[in-house]
Amino acid sequence: MPEKKKNELAEKLLYQPKNGFDRISAAEMKKVNAYCEDYKEFLDNGKTERLCVDYCIKLAEHQGFKPYKAGMKLKTGDKVYFNNRGKGIMLAVIGSESLANGANIGAAHTDSPRLDLKPRPLYEDAEMTYLKTHHYGGVRKYQWVTIPLALHGVVVLADGKTVNVHIGEEEGEPQFIINDLLPHLGREQGKKPLNEAIPSESLNVLIGSKPNEDKDVKDRFKLGVMQLINEKYGITEEDFISAELEVVPAGKASDIGFDRSFIGAYGHDDRVCAYAELAAIFDARKPKKTAVCIFADKEEIGSEGVSGMLSEAFEWFLGDMCKTQGVDLRDCFAHSFCVSADVTAAYDPNFADVYDKKNSAFINYGVGLCKYTGSGGKGGASDASAEIVGKLRKLLNDNEVFWQMAELGKTDAGGGGTVAKYMAKRNIDTIDAGVPVLSMHAPRETVAKLDCYMTYKMMKVVFEQA
Ligand code: MN
Ligand code: MN
Repeated sequence: MPEKKKNELAEKLLYQPKNGFDRISAAEMKKVNAYCEDYKEFLDNGKTERLCVDYCIKLAEHQGFKPYKAGMKLKTGDKVYFNNRGKGIMLAVIGSESLANGANIGAAHTDSPRLDLKPRPLYEDAEMTYLKTHHYGGVRKYQWVTIPLALHGVVVLADGKTVNVHIGEEEGEPQFIINDLLPHLGREQGKKPLNEAIPSESLNVLIGSKPNEDKDVKDRFKLGVMQLINEKYGITEEDFISAELEVVPAGKASDIGFDRSFIGAYGHDDRVCAYAELAAIFDARKPKKTAVCIFADKEEIGSEGVSGMLSEAFEWFLGDMCKTQGVDLRDCFAHSFCVSADVTAAYDPNFADVYDKKNSAFINYGVGLCKYTGSGGKGGASDASAEIVGKLRKLLNDNEVFWQMAELGKTDAGGGGTVAKYMAKRNIDTIDAGVPVLSMHAPRETVAKLDCYMTYKMMKVVFEQA
């Protein structure tokens, strides 16, 4: 067969993105798969933001990172981390250049949409016992019924002691569930819009039905379960008031597809980018500028709160390191570069009408760069400059990182945001980039392994060369 003649002019002038599988070498594909095994481990160990912090510390200490203390004297190559109240974490590798030249920052978040318990969650109805929930972040409520659920979190007891609760993940442990209506009686429910069919107040988790033996005691079904909870954890009903208990989908991450090219799991948004940052800061070789990794909490509810990206915990950490080098934090910010590493929507042919196909992120095309997020006329977007997009584009091309440019979806379809604007507000040049996700915010989200690895590769290049 004669080789098909290429049109050189078209090659030169027209932009034709290619599927990563048509570009990647077998050797690099091996790296993709090895990386994703570690990432799945990270997901299984990090079902909540608190568990992510614990697991990050475990991995970081193994890599020689030390807890940061105020005023600590640091030299080139030193590795430190700062645990922000067990819910957020920042890590840094000290570069050979002064912080006056700025830092290379990766900002991701490790909180994911879920159902939190209400402060007074426990009740019985129709001789069954339930926990009331208040959803955290943008969940599609109909997706949370009839799936196996686990419970994770902390309870601060009346005496001030903290008890950890983790149940529903291990083999043999009981799980929990929110029930739904049977189709036979669902005629009216079936006519409702998706977002009204399962009201928030019906997201009640079934936790038992065995009563206390005393037939005359009030709330004997609630008491029956409370007795077991008390035996296991030493907590009383009032203790739920000072607790943070999160209901999350039970189970582990798994490969998806005959070819295992995808990973299905809860919480890819945004642990897939957090892990990319983490692995990249571990692997970054001799960064000139200080490399900083942030895993913020509270992104899904607006980045507020002491553990969110709006918190000055970041100023405290980076500011204190600046102080020890005699650098003004504002000078450091002004010269810093930040990748707001957060997921973007992957084009889904089953819902083609919400995407602008020419400006969508495609599965297996690599890390998705977003110049702007926001909604409508770029409302609430940080909108990276052409110069910043150009800088990252060149870095990625020079280092054979597969990337694509994307918007979330059609301009009028909706919108979303990330921590990018809060970093930009600090006078830091910032751009969004992350892994394209199918079924974002669902109890089980889907990502392509190739895109996960390219996001890691991007972060490594940013830490080493930006
Ligand atoms: Mn996100
Ligand atoms: Mn999100």
